[in-house]
Amino acid sequence: MKKKIAVFHTGGTIAMKQDSETGAVTPQEENPLLDVNQDLFQNVELIVENILNLPSPHITEQEMLRLQKAISEKIATNHIDGVVITHGTDTLEETAYFLDLTIEHNIPIVITGAMRSSNELGSDGLHNYITAIRVALSDEAKNVGVMVVLNDEIHAARNVTKTHTSNVATFQSPQFGPIGIVTKNEVLIFQKLLRHEFYNIHQVTKNVVLLTAHAGMDGLIFDALERSPIHGLVIEGLGQGNLPPKAVVGLKNLLGKGIPVILVSRCLNGVTEGVYGYEGGGKHLEELGVIFSNGLSGQKARLKLMVALEISSQHDELEKIFAN
Ligand code: ASP
Repeated sequence: MKKKIAVFHTGGTIAMKQDSETGAVTPQEENPLLDVNQDLFQNVELIVENILNLPSPHITEQEMLRLQKAISEKIATNHIDGVVITHGTDTLEETAYFLDLTIEHNIPIVITGAMRSSNELGSDGLHNYITAIRVALSDEAKNVGVMVVLNDEIHAARNVTKTHTSNVATFQSPQFGPIGIVTKNEVLIFQKLLRHEFYNIHQVTKNVVLLTAHAGMDGLIFDALERSPIHGLVIEGLGQGNLPPKAVVGLKNLLGKGIPVILVSRCLNGVTEGVYGYEGGGKHLEELGVIFSNGLSGQKARLKLMVALEISSQHDELEKIFAN
């Protein structure tokens, strides 16, 4: 029997072409991937939906939610065997992680993109698309959470990040590496995450801001945030989770207003924890009520806080959620 794969195209470079005169890479009316020869997939039925046609810097949490609802509905009603999403690479890891947190499933869900548009020399779009379909068809790839597949590597949505502005090997999982690879003949998964989180949400309504700490950071931005309608803040702190002392003054005011603050590190590896007892050190921040996150990047912690705040704004609940 033919396996059914639901494909959702959302845009990005994989769906774009380069203009031969100006060199500009732009979206197209017709997705070039729709020309893919179906004979390539003899035992597969592709159910294709052009749900969006956006460059990924135009994707917001509302598009992620729309995609999540469309995928969940397809899983519930169409007896599909796997899902493939094509997406721009700039925010691909964010959509992947959002879907990972909010879709309950055991079939393979794969997201892919391209670094070179469809008519550029060495274009990687078609190869990545076909590879993603192969992963979605594989029994090995069941029950591993949402996967990011590019350049013959399979990465867990939680850990992967775009590391290079233009190289086709841009997607990497610092500290952990890929969970698998795709060879000419096989899809091989070598490791799986020990835990999978699922949050049953139907809307995304909270405004969460992401800041990066730096040497000499002061209270200016915190003062501006205190006057803004925000529901949460994520800070990419220094090292193991520290902030410059002048930043702490403004931070205290936000905490005093009941705004949850999540601290991740601007380092690519490791987790944040309360180690230093000086002004602005992790121990001090912990005492002030800052919540530490377990190794997530800033952009992913921001999405997780948005999702979590749909469930609870209680400090203890948020602390439990971010301990995962
Ligand atoms: N700027 C493009 C986008 O994210 C990059 C890509 O798709 O690779 O839509």
